[in-house]
Amino acid sequence: MRARCDVCGSDYDKTFEVRMARKSYIFDTFECAIQFLAPTCAHCSCRIIGHGIEVGGAFYCCAHCAKVSADSDVTAGADSCVAAS
Ligand SMILES: [Zn+2]
Ligand SMILES: [Zn+2]
Repeated sequence: MRARCDVCGSDYDKTFEVRMARKSYIFDTFECAIQFLAPTCAHCSCRIIGHGIEVGGAFYCCAHCAKVSADSDVTAGADSCVAAS
């Protein structure tokens, strides 16, 4: 069965289906799947394709990003002004 990629719309004979949160998606490449489904790191904005780290509802690609972000945003959850350090 041929199906169209949900991201780029290409009609490829080796598309695959990914189920996430009870919805299913069709992709032709992992690149499209990652672009569509992978969360982005709250610190460096890269796509999280590994396990990642979740801190206070935010996702980070690695421990370094989580730590740097946590250090600079001690009052997590509050929209405080960060101009004065
Ligand atoms: Zn695609
Ligand atoms: Zn990161």
